[in-house]
Amino acid sequence: MLPIKDCTGCSACAHVCPKGCISMIANEHGFLYPQINNDICVECGACKKNCPVLNKTATEKSEEIISYAAKTTDETIRKCSSSGGIFSAIAKKVIENNGIVYGAAFDGKFVVKHISVSSLDDLDLLRRSKYVQSDLNNSFVSVKNNLTEGKTVLFTGTPCQVEGLLAYLKKPYDNLITMDFVCHGVPSPNVWEYYKTYLQKQYKSAITDVNFRDKTLGWKNSSIRIEFENSNVYCNLFRNDPYMNAFLANMDLRESCYTCKFKSVNHKSDITVADYWGIDKTNPEIDDDKGLSLVLINSDKGASLLNVIESSLTLTKTDVEKTFQYNPCIIKPAKKHSFSQYFLNNYRKGDFAKVVDSCLNPSYITRLKRKFFQRKTEMLK
Ligand SMILES: Cc1cc2nc3c(=O)[nH]c(=O)nc-3n(C[C@H](O)[C@H](O)[C@H](O)COP(=O)(O)OP(=O)(O)OC[C@H]3O[C@@H](n4cnc5c(N)ncnc54)[C@H](O)[C@@H]3O)c2cc1C
Repeated sequence: MLPIKDCTGCSACAHVCPKGCISMIANEHGFLYPQINNDICVECGACKKNCPVLNKTATEKSEEIISYAAKTTDETIRKCSSSGGIFSAIAKKVIENNGIVYGAAFDGKFVVKHISVSSLDDLDLLRRSKYVQSDLNNSFVSVKNNLTEGKTVLFTGTPCQVEGLLAYLKKPYDNLITMDFVCHGVPSPNVWEYYKTYLQKQYKSAITDVNFRDKTLGWKNSSIRIEFENSNVYCNLFRNDPYMNAFLANMDLRESCYTCKFKSVNHKSDITVADYWGIDKTNPEIDDDKGLSLVLINSDKGASLLNVIESSLTLTKTDVEKTFQYNPCIIKPAKKHSFSQYFLNNYRKGDFAKVVDSCLNPSYITRLKRKFFQRKTEMLK
């Protein structure tokens, strides 16, 4: 059985269960975990056989890692994308060929969920990173239906979501393209829920728009920008925003992210994208601080797709290994913050920003007290 701490919540087990006895239920942090109804379960083992974590095998190591620094030539799209707008360039091609694109979007309450889009007008719903674990809903089942109908499907998500889909589908489909990204880890939906409420109280107004990747002050100075019904705007650099601080300091990630099994430059997806952090050090001549993507080509299908969209991109071949030190999440999981548990126990009590700050910059006495508390909790386990 998969230890709960390793479960990514991909939902492949729930979807392959022939008896439909597995439901995905949110834990106290809003992360979904499978729950088995033992009254119906016939112990056929389909869930275990199709769990991408339990059955994780090393992806065949390609002889040469093909990597590029890439950006779309459409400057309007690049401006409103997280890095170089490569997702949009690929998705546009798929939609122009009557295909369907799956990815993470905000719903009306700014909850992050996977949806499908089939028109260029709707593509903006999927654009830009949302730093919260997305709810896959029923997307694996609809992807399979679309594929069976002969539609071209582009499925995008975290590496564990893509591997979950591939495990659920069980067989390769020529009409499926998968794109994942280098993933830092996924923050708790409940912490995001709380942060929205916290800001709405401060601004005495409802949120009308969220952009986790505002580039007004430059790509390397990415900011979180939130608009409110009363026309107020909250805009803060990542390094000054408490929600982003908690995320980037690894206080509120899903437990499986701290031992992520999907770290490597050999992904099972066709294409992997990322922010090309460190490009100003390795290839400063191509960095204009407006956003650049790192693109890894993982399969022949990925290579053909890049060929097809090449005229809409500016591509520079690069050496990915030089970027590891600037983007460590490419090869290793995030290291859990030593006050993560304290943060999760306390972010609802008192002022959110102050709780984050007390974890990042604790006084000597606080450090001692928390170490004592942590040791006591560990001894009681
Ligand atoms: C939680 C998270 C952590 C990340 N960590 C890193 C990192 O450590 N290093 C790094 O270089 N890059 C990281 N990225 C990827 C990076 O932010 C960009 O997504 C990537 O550079 C592609 O940018 P783009 O300009 O091509 O397209 P964009 O338009 O920015 O890409 C949007 C794509 O991301 C998908 N997406 C957005 N939010 C989510 C979500 N919550 N869950 C699943 N899919 C989502 C959309 O479906 C769409 O496919 C992370 C992204 C997310 C969502």
